[in-house]
Parts: sequence; C-alpha cells; structure tokens
Amino acid sequence: MLDAGTSPAYEGISSLPFYDEYDLSTVDVLLISHFHIDHAASLPYVLAKTNFKGRVFMTHPTKAIYKWLIQDSVRVGNVSSSAEQKIQLYTEADHLSTFPQIEAIDYYTTHTISSIRITPYPAGHVLGAAMFLIEIAGLKILFTGDYSREEDRHLISARAPENVKVDVLITESTYGVATHVPRVERENMLMKTITGILNRGGRALLPVFALGRAQELLLILDEYWGKHPEYQKVPIYYASNLARKCMVVYQTYISAMNDNIKRLFRERMAEAESTGEVSKAGPWDFRYIRSLKSLERFDDIGSCVMLASPGMMQSGVSRELLERWAPDQRNGVVITGYSVEGTMAKIIMTEPEFIPAIMTRGAATASRGKVPGQHDQVQIPRRCTVNEFAFAAHVDGAENREFVEEVNPSVVILVHGEKSQMTRFKSKLLGLNSKRKNPIKVFSPPNCEALRIPFKTEKLAKVVGKLAQITAPQPITVRPQDVSGDEEMKDVAPEEQTQPQLITGVLVQSDFKMSLMAPEDLREYAGLTTTQITCRQQMALPTAGVELIRWALEGTFGGIKIVTPDFAAEKKKEQDAHGNGAMEVADEEVGRTTVFEVMDCVRVECGGPQGKVVVEWEGNMVNDGIADAVVGVLLTVESSPAAVKRKFLLHEQSHRPPF
Ligand SMILES: [Zn+2]
Ligand SMILES: [Zn+2]
Repeated sequence: MLDAGTSPAYEGISSLPFYDEYDLSTVDVLLISHFHIDHAASLPYVLAKTNFKGRVFMTHPTKAIYKWLIQDSVRVGNVSSSAEQKIQLYTEADHLSTFPQIEAIDYYTTHTISSIRITPYPAGHVLGAAMFLIEIAGLKILFTGDYSREEDRHLISARAPENVKVDVLITESTYGVATHVPRVERENMLMKTITGILNRGGRALLPVFALGRAQELLLILDEYWGKHPEYQKVPIYYASNLARKCMVVYQTYISAMNDNIKRLFRERMAEAESTGEVSKAGPWDFRYIRSLKSLERFDDIGSCVMLASPGMMQSGVSRELLERWAPDQRNGVVITGYSVEGTMAKIIMTEPEFIPAIMTRGAATASRGKVPGQHDQVQIPRRCTVNEFAFAAHVDGAENREFVEEVNPSVVILVHGEKSQMTRFKSKLLGLNSKRKNPIKVFSPPNCEALRIPFKTEKLAKVVGKLAQITAPQPITVRPQDVSGDEEMKDVAPEEQTQPQLITGVLVQSDFKMSLMAPEDLREYAGLTTTQITCRQQMALPTAGVELIRWALEGTFGGIKIVTPDFAAEKKKEQDAHGNGAMEVADEEVGRTTVFEVMDCVRVECGGPQGKVVVEWEGNMVNDGIADAVVGVLLTVESSPAAVKRKFLLHEQSHRPPF
C-alpha cells in the first residue's frame, strides 16, 4: 500500500480514500512517501480505526515531521469554529498511540518484509520525501510519490535508481505536459512580483503549506534580503507555530540535504566561530525572517511579506489575512504551491470580483457586519493582485517524460493530480511509443478500479538440503540421430537440443520464494512438520502356508521381493531392546517368518504362529491402493479354486501330510 492521505478539498470522513473498497487486513507493507497531508494524514486513521495489521515505513525526517504535523492538525481541528459539525477522523490519543508503530528507514537502504523488498530513494520534493523501489514476486516497481528533479536550495533532486530494470513505474502526473519556467527565471519573477508589491506599499501574502516548500521559499527570501539592503527594513513574517517547532527537524537532518545547504552550514559555522555567535550558525537560522506566533501579536501597519498556512487558504491564518487584505489593490497574493480544485487558492487564481468571508475572527471582516451562521453570504471584494509561480517541487511534463525514458519501464501508471493533466501526459507518452522499440503501456486507472497487468517472470526454485549435495544437473546434448520418429527435431542444430537431467523433491513456496528439497528436509528447511504413517493389518491364514501366499502374490503382482533376512534381523534387534527374557521365544519366531515385499512398498510377513500374516506399508495414496490389492489377494488365497488346486499340488510335491 502506497501512502495514506486525505483530500485537502474535503473534511472529515469524505476526505478519506475509499478504504471500504479494499480489505486493509491483507496489506503487508504500507509505505508513506512524504509528510504532506495528501500522502500521510489518514495514517492515524488506518492504524487506529481499520483492520490494517501490516507494517508502516517512512524515512526518519518524514517520521519526525509527521508527528508534529498530525498533532497540529488534530489540535487545529479541535479549535476550529466548525469542529462540532466535523466528524473527527481520529484523536490526538489515536495519533500518539499509533505513532510508535511507524518504522523509520534511511535512503538507499533495503528492507525485506514478507518477501517484499523496499528501498527508499530521495524524491527532491520535501525534506524526507522518498521514491520507493519495491521488489515483489520478481517484479520491480518504482513509486515516485511527489518528486522533483530541479536544482534546489536544500533538497537532493530525484534520480532514477542505478542498475535497476524497473518493470512498473508509478509516477505522479500533477503538472501534466505543462512546462515550468526555468528555476532561475522563476525565482527572479517571484522576487520581482514580491518587491513590486512592497514598492507600491502593499502587503505580500504567500499562502504556503507550513512545511516543505515554505522552507525553500524562506531560503530564497533570506538570501535575497541579504543581498538587497534596501528591503531589509521590510519584515518577512512566517506565521506558523508548526513550522517553528519543526525547524529543529530541519536542523537535525542537514545530512539528508544537498551540498548547497551543507556548504551554507560550513560557511555559517566558520562565520560564527569568528564572531562567537555559535547559536545562530545553522543554515536554518534565518537572518531576516521573523517567526509569528499568532495574528494577535502582529502589528499590521505597513508593507510586509507574510508566509502563512494553510497553503490552499481553506481556513486558518492565511484565509484570515486574505479576507483582511484582499480589498486593498496595493496588496498581492502570491501562490507558490500546488492548488487542489475547489480550494480558495484555486478560486483566487481566477481573480474573482468577490470572495466569500468565512473567518469569524479579525477586525476587518467583523466590521463588515457578518451575520453569525450565515458566513457564506458575506462577500469581500477582491482588488489585490494574484500571481502564481510553481515552486511546488513537482516535475513538469518534460522532466517527467525524461524520467520515464531514463527508468525505461514496460508499464507506466499515472497517479496524483487532475484527470485532464493526467490524460494529456498519457497521450504524450503514448505518442512517443512510435519511436520506441518496446512500446510502453500507460495506465491512469480511476479510483477503485483494479488494474491487471499480465507479466511473465522467470520462476526460480532454490535447491536446498540433501538435494543440493547432488552435483548440479548438466544439460545433456541430444544428437539428432538419437531422436527417432520426430522429423522436426532433425532441423534443429545439435547444440540447441538440450535435455536437462531430472532431480525430484518437494517444491515449497513461501511468499514469493520457491525451494526444492528432499521430503526429509522439509522440517529443517521449510519449517514444515512431516508425518509418516505406518499402516499394519493382521489376519490369520492357518491353511495357506508361505509358498501358497508367495504363489498367489506373484500371480497378481509379478515378481515380488523376499526380504526375510533383513526384516528378521530388524525384528530381532527390536525384540532385544525389549529385554533379554524374550530372547528364546523371539528367536524361534523369527526363524519361522518370511517377508515379501510387493511393488517395493507393501511388506507381507507370513508364516507366523497360527498362520498369522502381517501386511505393513507406509501410508500414502499409492501404497494404500497397492496394500488394498494385496489384502484382497490374501483374503481369497485359501478359498479360490486356483489356490486350492495349487495347494494340493504343493503338498503332493513336498510329500508332506496336507494338514
Ligand atoms: Zn507533496
Ligand atoms: Zn501530493
């Protein structure tokens, strides 16, 4: 199972994936690609409220941020005005009690769970974001999650795993075939827009998701302010308690970031050592950015740059500021993230004349005389400017296509993003198939529709235990003249005709692994309990005699083996073990019995006292059938006409009295 998110456009139960459509108890492994809401926010629900009983993996930074993020979202959910109407998906207690179940792993390390091998690779999307290589039943699947291949100020960009032949690539298609403006140009345009707003005396609102891309924007802004003293009097605010808490995670995981951030770290350390200010030595100790605890502490008195969450302005600080600032044409909203259909971030980009006021707090909105309970009817004019720059760290169409070419899978499955974008990217890939030697199959399955892709994989069985001591079977070359009556075979070159030697054993399949072993190795190598059943049937044939029994058995089964000496010795040993007192009698008895073996599996011991005959065999389907036949023969041996005739014949020849 890949990711467990919620939809940002919905609330409560309706924001969940369609978990009812799938039996979560059958899932062995759940991999969380990164901490974003749409990938991780229903994990507490899955762990606390469903029958899921598999294992959960994410990277260390993802786990660290996930903890704060979910805690924050649960608390915010509790204090929000519409909390009563919402059915809470899970409580803080659910989150905290399930958190220890999550297993944190490192990039480039491989883990095997129920024969499924997983390896995370950097995805270049947010801190800790991973692509997962999954090897299952001989198939290699690469799941990109959200990913980016762009030069970044802090993240290692995504690269295809080296020397791996991927069969299935599950990739995002968020931006479809759209092309991002080159990063440098985009940064220039972003800064031009922000400084433009400031130059006209306005406030720049950057609604951001508290964690992830916001940190990259802060690095850009801090660097720009450092290089442009004329703006240093304009404050940059970052209104997120959550982000403040998580900065320690960013400081901790510098090792998981790229060379740029490590260089910055070294430079700042050197600087700090010379000035003695070691506490501000980290690359995440911003010089020009102020953290804002709450809007109550914010003096809204002039130009500023404000990064506020949530990124899609559905509620919260960013929404409150939007409603406060939207009517002033000097102000500007700068959208930098990916916006989901139906959210305010998406709506504002259409530059509507009015936007609905939903926040109850804030002087500006209150002065407009909102009627409690009729929030939706209060409209606020929008005169502020709206700009959008893609800093979402998702690949664009060209980057995604290049990645597909690089990975070179036989199947691509598109996920994440709007259907229209997905369809465009799908057509693009299919269009490129005409140039490919091996065309790629592309799928964009709708929700709840199972995708069945037939794959032919080589099935390998490991030979273990006793069988492994046999010299590996060498193919035998069969010369054409050895093959009689097959005209076709003669057309084939001799070296191509090989016929492997056969070894036999029990084929054991455990998960996706197969092993071939001798039955007696089952316990040691497969952990299977084996049972051998010995069946024994006794009857009395006082008049038959050993010779007649032998004659009857040979008549039915052909040649039979006489195993008397071995069997007798065995029996003697057995009796010795029971004590010497019985020795004399035993010897006498042993001397008189004869044992035949029918078809190498059923032993018939005859000639015992009072014509006692014992039939013994190891119970299995084949032996049981043969034993049945043997018993059948024995039961008629004294009465069938042929046997009676034979009996007298025998007695005549032996010159012994008949009885
Ligand atoms: Zn994401
Ligand atoms: Zn996403």
